[in-house]
Amino acid sequence: MNLDILKDILHTEPTFRFRQAWKAIFQDLIEQWDENTTLPKQLRERLHSECPLEISAEMFGSQKSDSQKALITLEDNEKIETVLLNHRDKRHTLCVSTQVGCAMKCAFCATGKLGLKRNLTTSEIVDQVLLFARYMKKHTEDERIGNIVFMGMGEPFANYTNVMSAIRILNDKDAFNIGARHISISTSGVVDGIKKLASEDLPVNLAISLHAPNDALRSRLMPINKVHNIDKLMKAVGEYVNKKNRQVMFEYLMIDGVNDTQAHATELALFVKHPLYIVNLIRYNPTGVFEPSRPDAIRKFKNTLLRAGVKVTERHEFGQDIDAACGQLAGKRRGKD
Ligand code: SAH
Ligand code: SF4
Repeated sequence: MNLDILKDILHTEPTFRFRQAWKAIFQDLIEQWDENTTLPKQLRERLHSECPLEISAEMFGSQKSDSQKALITLEDNEKIETVLLNHRDKRHTLCVSTQVGCAMKCAFCATGKLGLKRNLTTSEIVDQVLLFARYMKKHTEDERIGNIVFMGMGEPFANYTNVMSAIRILNDKDAFNIGARHISISTSGVVDGIKKLASEDLPVNLAISLHAPNDALRSRLMPINKVHNIDKLMKAVGEYVNKKNRQVMFEYLMIDGVNDTQAHATELALFVKHPLYIVNLIRYNPTGVFEPSRPDAIRKFKNTLLRAGVKVTERHEFGQDIDAACGQLAGKRRGKD
């Protein structure tokens, strides 16, 4: 669905027509314009031919499994992935992509290997949520999307404007009505984006992919560190926290023998100890380069941080069964490539 075309078409109509169409799309979750009964037939026919509602996607994984993945084909035939992480409490988390591929080239990330193809439009970001909202309406009784995480393919702050416009639609009470506090943006450390987010009025959550406790190692794992090093990053995060008084999560992948020793934990503890900082230890999903840390190493690493007074959690593991956990998306067609 293309929201720009929708706005263009309805531009000359009375404003209540736009509200009717908006409700039909985001609340009634219609999949064809002819399912709607409030708009005049002629207008529906025009919308049908110029602003179709179909979202072309293949679904993987079952409702019973930990996660479900959608492989969405965009108008120019590029493919992106969206993952629904199934929680037991019926309010699920949807992991959304912001770009086709990613320019950041992090050494451990499958998306990084693709390079950047292009930014997603606001409509393409919103469509990912729409697809799963429709799916849940059809296949479940009262399950819904409770949280959105911008942790799929791409760097959200490299597509700042479209991501923020999409968030406003997710947040809109006449659209998805998902509270900003239930929306999280994860960045590899784009400092300008962190600064801009600090000046937004929306209380979305910020997560920083840190993954290393010093510049030498972080630059090796995440080339963006050569532009925005840890000092610059921590300064921007500090300013964000001072302004917003909101918690920031530092994501830390546990990679065997690379960033998971006691010395790394001690070094990390020096700059992430803060009442509003929390470190999230994530088990590395192998993408062919490194190995995940051994459980024993993760336990020791965690204890070192805890003893130093750092707040720590461990990310629940999702989606291993269908090769679709957040952060290891490569837009591949399973079994067909
Ligand atoms: N580009 C943004 C958001 C998408 S990646 C970012 O980097 O923050 C979402 C998260 O998945 C990031 O923390 C990323 O570092 C992590 N990730 C990437 N590759 C991974 C892998 N192979 N296993 C586990 N997490 C991974
Ligand atoms: Fe891009 Fe994030 Fe993957 Fe790095 S981890 S390559 S920033 S998607």
